[in-house]
Formats: sequence, structure tokens, C-alpha cells
Amino acid sequence: MVFILKFSLKNENETRALAQQFADCISNKKRAWVIYLEGDLGAGKTTFARHFIQYFGFDRVKSPTYSLVESYENAAVSIHHFDCYRLGDAQELELIGVRDYATARSIQLIEWAERGAGAIPNADFIIQISGEDEARIFELNSQNPAAEHLLKCLN
Ligand code: ADP
Ligand code: MG
Repeated sequence: MVFILKFSLKNENETRALAQQFADCISNKKRAWVIYLEGDLGAGKTTFARHFIQYFGFDRVKSPTYSLVESYENAAVSIHHFDCYRLGDAQELELIGVRDYATARSIQLIEWAERGAGAIPNADFIIQISGEDEARIFELNSQNPAAEHLLKCLN
């Protein structure tokens, strides 16, 4: 099972709406999710992640560019937002115990996953972002049958 969903968005408000709808859809299936966010610098990876995380009631979301990972946990969810852009070596991820972030119900959002290759888990979804000015194309790819419900939920 492979699927691709493509969204053309006019501005950041539409990105927020998509991120929150996506958060709603994936959180109604209780399991762990690994999501890669791909695209050039400034594409909107962190912006998408921020709106996604805010959906769960976390108001302050900061970019993990310097910290490598920021975590958001409450009684309902456990979200880990990684940015591997500044990673020197994938081994640094092993040192911070990256495997411990993959719990039964955790949601991992990962920017620049290719820089952590070998140390980070495989993706359930890959979201590729491109565009210019305020317009964006979001392309969501999945090869995970567990994600099939999203086809209905997001449409
Ligand atoms: P990345 O993490 O991919 O490097 P950021 O999310 O940090 O990118 O930056 C994206 C920038 O683009 C932000 O300044 C954001 O306000 C702006 N932007 C403009 N339009 C959009 C849109 N439709 N979706 C997401 N970001 C947008
Ligand atoms: Mg970013």
C-alpha cells in the first residue's frame, strides 16, 4: 500500500489548517508515528510542526535547530520534534538516546532526517514541502497500511 496526497495551499493560514487536521487525523489512531518533514530551508517544515504541536495544546513551540530535539508531553500525547540540520554525525543521536524517544504512542516529527540516517527510525509518512512567496505544495507519502485511514480523514 502506497499513497500520495497532494495539497496546494495559498498561505500560512491554510498550512495551519492542514497541520491541525493532520494532527487530528493521526491522533485518532493510537499508535506510534514517525513523520519526516522535507524541503529546503524556509520551506515551512518548522511552521508545519509548530501548528501540528499546537493542536495538542502546547502554546510555546520553538525550533529544535540548536537543541536537536524538543519534546512536548502531557497526559494525552508525547511528541518529539527533531531537527538534524546541524548534526555533525548520526552518532550524536545515539548519544542522546534517540531510541528512547520511540515509545508505543509517541509522535516523532523529524526535519533533515537524512542527516541522521542509520540512527533514526523509518518514516510512516514523508511530507515534502515546496513553493514560494506564501504558496506551498504539501505532498504526503506513506507506505504504511496503518495510515490508510488518513485518505478518508484528510479528504
Ligand atoms: P523550515 O523549517 O522549512 O526551514 P520555517 O518553517 O522555519 O522553514 O520557515 C518558513 C517560513 O515561510 C516562515 O517564515 C513562514 O512564516 C513562511 N511562510 C509563508 N507562507 C507559508 C506557508 N503557506 N506555509 C508555511 N510557511 C509559510
Ligand atoms: Mg526548520
